[in-house]
Amino acid sequence: MRDVRCQRCGHMFTLARDLVDAALQELEETEQDYYTLECLRCRHVIKIQRSDLERMRPPEGADS
Ligand SMILES: [Zn+2]
Repeated sequence: MRDVRCQRCGHMFTLARDLVDAALQELEETEQDYYTLECLRCRHVIKIQRSDLERMRPPEGADS
């Protein structure tokens, strides 16, 4: 699943598949270990580990 939970306010949201792809691409270019985004509700910065993103990315050819 591509669900992410804000540790401050508990808001949950689902990462779009496109965003997961873009995030992984950005991490490759910047050589960082995690991707950051802001919680839509409270603006808390959420860090998503690169390994988590890779797990979120569907296997090649999968359509979901
Ligand atoms: Zn939040």
